[in-house]
Amino acid sequence: MLNKVLLSTDVTLACVQHALSTEKEEIMGLLIGEVHENNSLVSIVSSVILRRLDKKPDRVEISEEQLVQATLRAEELAAEVGRPLRVVGWYHSHPHITVWPSHVDLATQSMYQRMDSSFVGIIFAVFLTEQTAKAPSIQITCFQSVNEGSSQSRREIELEITNNNDSLTINNFEILTQLPAILKEEEDESYINEAGQCDTDIITRQHNSAVLTIAIGHIVEKISRPMLEALVARNALHSVRLRALKKRHQELMSMLDNMSCNV
Ligand SMILES: [Zn+2]
Repeated sequence: MLNKVLLSTDVTLACVQHALSTEKEEIMGLLIGEVHENNSLVSIVSSVILRRLDKKPDRVEISEEQLVQATLRAEELAAEVGRPLRVVGWYHSHPHITVWPSHVDLATQSMYQRMDSSFVGIIFAVFLTEQTAKAPSIQITCFQSVNEGSSQSRREIELEITNNNDSLTINNFEILTQLPAILKEEEDESYINEAGQCDTDIITRQHNSAVLTIAIGHIVEKISRPMLEALVARNALHSVRLRALKKRHQELMSMLDNMSCNV
């Protein structure tokens, strides 16, 4: 029985960034990782952002095609790192609502668990305003479904966020930076759907184009720019660390040289 889930910091960052990309709709993705110790432990090392097919506020769905694509992605990563990686779970966001899974979430989770008993669900509750803190906060829960007759209840799974220094870091940063492009695809798609639906007069066409322009402006302003700034700052910090480490390396090497001269 599954007892514990390890979630890497990179994946946590990518999922939180994804969850914070909209406070109006739920977002969703799949989790890639490895199952250990007789299905009692799952470690999550990467994720796949899913494009929303239907932007209803409380409805998230995974298509067969998306599941197949994620499975192929997991196989590619497995070959890259030489470990048995596969799709091990799913995540979605709860903007402005409690972190606990809904009945729909528990039914969805139960369906996946029937196919794979160690499959997990993770929920990121975002844009929460705590009465005490008066500041937006984030809550995370990891769960599985337990069948009780015709309905399901949740079983919480211990979740530990771990610092991973493995070869998937670059891959996870790529996932993070793909987010604005995926969001733009969603906007383009709803624009095309809208344009195809009615015999549009010029005012409607103008309106739809304006809505698309505003949406893309929003993505650039609220997601791309802050992400770029954060990555530039991180890069600057790493450069400073790198210089310090190189200097230390030189010092140690010269100490070593002196020691071998004295021997
Ligand atoms: Zn939910």
